[in-house]
Amino acid sequence: MPSSRARVIVMNSALGPLDYRVPHGIEAAPGSIVVAPLGPRQLLGVVWEADRLATEEVGDNRLRNLLGVVDAPPIPESLRRLIEWTADYYLAPLASVLRMALASTSALEGARTVTEYRASGTAPGRMTPQREQALERIGDRQGLIRELATTADVSDAVIRGLVKAGALEGIEVDIDHPYPRPDPNHAPPELSDIQSDVASILRQSVGAAQFQPFLLDGVTGSGKTEVYFEAVAAAIRAGRQTLVLLPEIALTEPFLKRFHARFGCEPVAWHSGLRQSQRRRAWRAIASGEALVTVGARSALFLPYPNLGLIVVDEAHETSFKQEDGVHYHARDVAVMRGKFEECPVVLATATPAIETRHQVELGRYEELKLPARFGEAQMPSIAAIDLLAQPPERGRWIAPPLVTAIDATLERGEQALLFLNRRGYAPLTLCRHCGHRFQCPNCTAWMVEHRLISRLACHHCGHMIPSPRACPECGEEESLVACGPGVERIADEVALLWPQARTAIVTSDTIWSPAKAAEFVGRMEAGEIDIVVGTQLVTKGYHFPNLTLVGVVDADLGLAGGDLRAAERTFQQIMQVSGRAGRGDKPGHVYLQTTAPDASVMQALISGDAEGFYAAETEARRDAAAPPFGRYAAIVVSSEDKAAADDTARALARCVPDIDAMHVYGPAPAPLAMLRGRHRFRLLVHARRALDVQDVIRDWLNRVEWPARVRVIVDVDPYNF
Ligand code: ADP
Ligand code: ZN
Repeated sequence: MPSSRARVIVMNSALGPLDYRVPHGIEAAPGSIVVAPLGPRQLLGVVWEADRLATEEVGDNRLRNLLGVVDAPPIPESLRRLIEWTADYYLAPLASVLRMALASTSALEGARTVTEYRASGTAPGRMTPQREQALERIGDRQGLIRELATTADVSDAVIRGLVKAGALEGIEVDIDHPYPRPDPNHAPPELSDIQSDVASILRQSVGAAQFQPFLLDGVTGSGKTEVYFEAVAAAIRAGRQTLVLLPEIALTEPFLKRFHARFGCEPVAWHSGLRQSQRRRAWRAIASGEALVTVGARSALFLPYPNLGLIVVDEAHETSFKQEDGVHYHARDVAVMRGKFEECPVVLATATPAIETRHQVELGRYEELKLPARFGEAQMPSIAAIDLLAQPPERGRWIAPPLVTAIDATLERGEQALLFLNRRGYAPLTLCRHCGHRFQCPNCTAWMVEHRLISRLACHHCGHMIPSPRACPECGEEESLVACGPGVERIADEVALLWPQARTAIVTSDTIWSPAKAAEFVGRMEAGEIDIVVGTQLVTKGYHFPNLTLVGVVDADLGLAGGDLRAAERTFQQIMQVSGRAGRGDKPGHVYLQTTAPDASVMQALISGDAEGFYAAETEARRDAAAPPFGRYAAIVVSSEDKAAADDTARALARCVPDIDAMHVYGPAPAPLAMLRGRHRFRLLVHARRALDVQDVIRDWLNRVEWPARVRVIVDVDPYNF
């Protein structure tokens, strides 16, 4: 029998493809997940290519034998091509991209059940401080020993001790348990004429099973979800899989509810909050093709769906689709590429398409489908500016008199109001009035944000926390510390002062940190148990509260500072989005923007509703500057705990910048976050013409420079924050 050879991508980002011999008795076709020896270790990998060994190679004993094939569905060809494309385009190691497809190596273990543990309600015979802490933190959670130990921040041994003592009980969890099948005919809506036209185009496209990107461009409340659900129904009828990408886990819960109402059961959810057993069950169901509809955060994009017939990217303009660590990719763009490799339609649904997406429509690559009006009787809200310079709030307050009046009126009518400020915590900066000391994170170039609800200062970049200080650590002065600027907690304090009778909820990732919390918030809103919501961007999307009629944007200028390329566009999108929460039922909605620049073009566009004019002007400005989508940027970030080493490497790179007309390199300069998690960061910014194969140029360039192991060089193609 002839022997064969397999070229394998092993799960080690530092290594390229490796060749192995496939011993007799092992079936290792391309896509197979295998166990490969590497030095003394065993690594998982995926067979990328396989061929017969030529006769003279059969005796070649330099090739090591593969150790085995994992009993799991193979990585499909279309996904392998996507992984190659992603690694190539974003200049990332193949193994790093592949890791996202395998997602959880535990999913590959053979067992059909696992044992999870949860509190039994019996106290352990002997209570220790650690056991007490563990039981308190575990609460009503359930999970593997390792997971509970992590949750409780204790060692595995403490958890095992609690199991032995009877305080935790074991539960067999069936990870092969099948998912229910969504019923496309469960509760179809009666679509309006225009919705129906759009839905039938999407249905046809699903039936045609060809690559076709769509921009589903409809104002908030126009029924985009209802309409793309019709495409999902078509895919289910055809027995094909659908992937719906959402920008945030927080949106999963309302989505699951809506999906359930339409299709009679929940889809498979995929996000970072899953327990290992849930992850394993979901991965298996997805990879086998059993899971017909998957909803997830961007990490769901690389899973091995064998039979994908439709991809939907909801709120497609959201910047959280851009992954900022590990492989720096944009899930919206990769979703379109996945559609291309899978030969299926891709629907980008949004009320405020990104300029890049609109440009694709102009080029004729994406088909635009429009839903120009809200469904039913609901009208778009009115939007007005409050000039903070002309009508400032009282000293030390943030809500200006016209907004106070508007909230008064809203509460009198028994309706709900939302105050939006995209800043968590109480105050973004604490300083000492006596000596001027400012509390900065020791690991990052960032101020420590006060979180008064938990009496801590926290860094929003690395998570570093300290107890709220009572005295200045610099000069020792007590009662000299002042909180500067507002976060949502501070606005909530002001609300309590102004409307002591009103029932208030703060909605941020600090208060809504689980699907259950989100469900609880929705329940209280719907039951009319909340009058005023104070929230960050977490409340701007997905929710539908008919009795919410007023939105106050506390600081409309917040996103404009900093001069970022997309600052105006992002402000426009965010304010349109939060405005979209007002007046979704039969009562009219009103939006107030507190701003110091009511004449700025973005404010004027929002007030007049002239989105087209705004986009046209922004697009022209981008064209003039050869900025995306007309030109291309790539950031090269050099970082190290050793500042001099990072600096040296950045300079070395700058010395060998390729001399190419179509490209210009700026820097090195300190990166926007000059220090992050203890690493000093320098950045070179590449600006290139569209036609240039910038990836190729950068790859060559980086290959010509060497740097010490303690320095990390990361390329961010199409970067967002600069
Ligand atoms: P979008 O996703 O564009 O914001 P949604 O799909 O959330 O819009 O629709 C807004 C609201 O209108 C939702 O409560 C939805 O259930 C309702 N709606 C939209 N279209 C219909 C329809 N054809 N029949 C019944 N309700 C609809
Ligand atoms: Zn930090």
